[in-house]
Amino acid sequence: MRTRLSAALASAVLALGVLAGCSAASDDRPLVVVSTNVLGDVVGELVGPDVEVMTLMKPNADPHSFEISAQEAARLRSADLVVSNGLGLEEGLQQHLDAAAASGVPAFVAGDAVDVLDYAERDAAGTPDPHFWTDPARMAAVVDAIEPYLLEIDGADAKAISERTAAYRDRLDGLDAEMTAAFAAIPAERRALVTNHHVFGYLAERFGFRIVGTVIPGGTTLAAPSASDLVGLVAALEDAGVAAVFAESSSPDRLMRVLAEEANVHVEVVELFTESLTPPGGGAEDYLTMMRVNTERIATGLAP
Ligand SMILES: [Zn+2]
Repeated sequence: MRTRLSAALASAVLALGVLAGCSAASDDRPLVVVSTNVLGDVVGELVGPDVEVMTLMKPNADPHSFEISAQEAARLRSADLVVSNGLGLEEGLQQHLDAAAASGVPAFVAGDAVDVLDYAERDAAGTPDPHFWTDPARMAAVVDAIEPYLLEIDGADAKAISERTAAYRDRLDGLDAEMTAAFAAIPAERRALVTNHHVFGYLAERFGFRIVGTVIPGGTTLAAPSASDLVGLVAALEDAGVAAVFAESSSPDRLMRVLAEEANVHVEVVELFTESLTPPGGGAEDYLTMMRVNTERIATGLAP
């Protein structure tokens, strides 16, 4: 009993260290470096405590623009596996990902494993949309595709990883079923999304939502909306008669409030978690929680 308790304690302490990002000092476990915190959480669930997962993107950060230290770049080049989102998401990190790949570090790009959609809006039409994680089925495809890479990691317990991957796959299927049921309850004509950044293209395609408009054009948070973007969106809002406008937690919702006022229609501004996990206690500390909270808020916001 005592031994089991100690083992449980040890793994709890280990888990805390990973969560707090206390991974600056190397240990003797194999190292997987992951770019975004959404993928960092998923990979951590798959490999378990016997593999060190270093997530480069901090909680509440912008995946399009975050940068890393020289020390983090050095660890990236010494990793046993580097996992990135790809599809142009990590604009601030790409040079380091390329350098690691060039020096022979095995790389897994999640975007290579999914059925990719292009941005639909005019400014970014023809550009791949990197926000695949808003569709849990696509995340499941990523989990399926990454498993062989994880099993290849030197020093990792392949049997444990296979078991953990199968268990997480079940949890993703459960999430998928919950989302399907929650969105099916929204009448089709009310399934319209207005957000302040084009994150929900995959969710929209999967669950039958129309994207009425996005406030920030071009699919990146780095661009600013013009006055004509705002006017166009106001017109779209009025035509669609949407009940709620969704703002993301990773960028200010001031613009969304201006819009709601300018559109002169009654819209509720609802905050969603979109591109980043939060610190513990922030409401979206892991991928499954983030998705469940968003689903509940969208379903409530658009309910008749
Ligand atoms: Zn984005």
